[in-house]
Amino acid sequence: MKRTEPGHINVNGQQTIELVGKSSHGYANLYKMACTQCGHEYNANGCDIHIRKCPKCQKGKPSSQ
Ligand SMILES: [Zn+2]
Repeated sequence: MKRTEPGHINVNGQQTIELVGKSSHGYANLYKMACTQCGHEYNANGCDIHIRKCPKCQKGKPSSQ
């Protein structure tokens, strides 16, 4: 399963939910993510999905825009 496919879960337990659209920078795809540990939802750039950590319970960086 590719990291950008809905349902994918990375090594940190962060699940890809769906494509949101382009980032505010315009060059990256933004994906809705959910933490399987605490249920927190946030957005991440597609290129960052595999290394993303939950902003709430894993001290990851804040939601991307
Ligand atoms: Zn979490």
